[in-house]
Amino acid sequence: MDNQRPVFKDPNDLSGQVAVISGSTSGIGLALARAVAARGCDVVLNGLGDPSEIERTRAELEASCGVRVRYHAANMLKGDEVADMVAYAKHQLGRLDILVNNAGIQHVEAVEKFPSDQWEKIIAINLSSTFYATRAAIPIMKAQGRGRIVNIASVHGLVASPFKSAYVAAKHGVVGFTKTVALELAQDNITCNAICPGFVETPLVAAQVADLARTRGTSKEKVLSEVILESQPTKRFVTTDELTGAFLYLVSDLGASTTGISMPIDGGWTAR
Ligand code: NAD
Repeated sequence: MDNQRPVFKDPNDLSGQVAVISGSTSGIGLALARAVAARGCDVVLNGLGDPSEIERTRAELEASCGVRVRYHAANMLKGDEVADMVAYAKHQLGRLDILVNNAGIQHVEAVEKFPSDQWEKIIAINLSSTFYATRAAIPIMKAQGRGRIVNIASVHGLVASPFKSAYVAAKHGVVGFTKTVALELAQDNITCNAICPGFVETPLVAAQVADLARTRGTSKEKVLSEVILESQPTKRFVTTDELTGAFLYLVSDLGASTTGISMPIDGGWTAR
């Protein structure tokens, strides 16, 4: 009977779609790439790393998921390369449905000692690349009549911590940018949202633990228990599966009215 038909397509079916995910050679970006590829979505991977390892990941994803997986080596420090990555998806795979601005770096240092080059890099990779990729993606998504932009911000897009001035500034910028883009595209069936994770166990966090131990003059074990677990009430890392659940909702048709939000997935961090 007609009225018993589901209103929405299976939200887990992304077949025929194309996603571009910056910083997807590692950590959260790679987990999101695996999630969309497993649901039938073609993917453009991006990120730094050993070329043979990247090729292994690309080929493994393509073979195990039966989708087309490409790699584009755009350096997120360079706006023209970021735009080229987006254009590459359209040229190579024919369309662009999902843009994930995920690449990010961190540097932990007191603000009065914060190195200028680290400040510039963090703003360029964590914030400006989001602008360059989004600007390039919008005309393609508008022409298709649908699009999903997901920015991987951070709990540090919503609240601050000491010694992370550039990262906190960049991630607050991503949250503001997300809202503006959402408003501009609200009538184009293109949503733009941010996910704000608390601590997730990835190479980026491992480096932070080492940096924090250095700036605080303490051991890595103490940083884990006294800094990381201190801020996250669940007292454990957020998992990439938990991020993937929210991400799949945002990119599905069920997420069509969800735009401009910055969703904390932070084990209760921002509830304090
Ligand atoms: P990660 O270090 O595992 O991955 C970062 C990715 O970005 C890698 O693929 C890396 O190659 C890529 N990258 C870095 N510089 C680049 C450049 N110049 N050009 C192209 N690619 C570049 O880190 P992650 O933890 O998976 O972080 C992913 C995103 O999630 C980041 O934006 C980070 O700020 C955010 N985040 C992470 C956590 C966490 O606890 N891990 C928490 C909140 C937010």
